[in-house]
Amino acid sequence: MATSDRMAAARRAIAEFAEEKLDRIRARSLHRRLRPTLRSEGGRADREGRRLVSFSDNDYLGLSTDPRVKQAAADAALRHGAGAGASRLVTGDCPLYAELEAALAAMKGTEAALVFGSGYLANISVIPVLARPGDHILLDALSHACMHAGARLSGAIVETFRHNDAEDLRARLAASAAARKLVLTETVFSMDGDLAPLDAIAEACADHGAWMMTDDAHGFGVVDAPNPAPLQMGTLSKAAGGYGGYVCGPRPFIDLLINRARGFVFTTGLPPAALGAAIEALRIMKAEPARGARALAHARRFSRALDLPAAQSAIVPVILGSADETLAQSQWLAENGFLVTAIRPPTVPAGTARLRVSFSSGHRQEDVEALCEAMKQMQAMAKAEA
Ligand SMILES: *Cc1c(COP(=O)(O)O)cnc(C)c1O
Repeated sequence: MATSDRMAAARRAIAEFAEEKLDRIRARSLHRRLRPTLRSEGGRADREGRRLVSFSDNDYLGLSTDPRVKQAAADAALRHGAGAGASRLVTGDCPLYAELEAALAAMKGTEAALVFGSGYLANISVIPVLARPGDHILLDALSHACMHAGARLSGAIVETFRHNDAEDLRARLAASAAARKLVLTETVFSMDGDLAPLDAIAEACADHGAWMMTDDAHGFGVVDAPNPAPLQMGTLSKAAGGYGGYVCGPRPFIDLLINRARGFVFTTGLPPAALGAAIEALRIMKAEPARGARALAHARRFSRALDLPAAQSAIVPVILGSADETLAQSQWLAENGFLVTAIRPPTVPAGTARLRVSFSSGHRQEDVEALCEAMKQMQAMAKAEA
């Protein structure tokens, strides 16, 4: 057979392979698709011909559409170009990096900081530098997919501890024979909005000579509780409104990352626009702390109105269990002007599909009240049907 015919056969085989897998995903109501969304100030989103108020963004401070942040991105692009041109170790170390990393280290109270292409890239790059085969990584059972991915990439022994259970962690640390132990958790959990008991976890780590790294993706700018962890990573793509990841820690460790983290060494630097936007966003976060408090107040108002446990962050889960029911409720909310995404497995554990409602300082109080009313009406209808 000619090469072109064999390639055509391979193309068909790949398509069949994908269709078979997709059929199984669809059968479980877990199929996902992309929907172009035009986002604008005030948490507004235009999607499929509808204007919606979005309660699905991680843009907790409304900075992704802030005119000052957009201007800073444009200025940086005009001054430094659209792209970095190379990895940072070659010629991609735009001078804006130094300014951004100094600001991050100052905010986190660490000696130094290093910016990565994204939070995902930061986690999968940093964890394998910290741990290798024979070491022991213990991570909270609800930790983000990229912490699990980084842990697996390291080749270390990977074990989860019960969600937010410092005593369970302590028992597992005590049972570990590994010379080097690394503990990973989030500060604010992305799908549940609850906070990790950082002090209790730090104490367990200290008692067992373990290192601790936290992922502050959803705390940064909203829940800035004191954090005892010597290594703190996070992202610039949530409350900071832009794009990029970061790791803060001791200077020599940051220097080691520059030399060893594969997702740093072998990837191109961020576009200067992302750096300019982040510098301006961090300046606003510091100058206007009321923004984070406002997002939290919205979340608390919502949790109170719906008789849910009091919100601890800008994220409030409404756990329904069934993926079908969650999809139906999300659809009903969209028909009534609200964008509240259905979160299904594998993003959350099986049987815990939910509406994940997230709040932003950009929301008006009326927006939040309208959502509360709609949710109550929907729940009353669901009850009447049941
Ligand atoms: C979103 C998220 C990340 C990934 O950050 P990106 O910058 O979006 O790649 C990492 N950890 C947690 C907990 C997250 O929620």
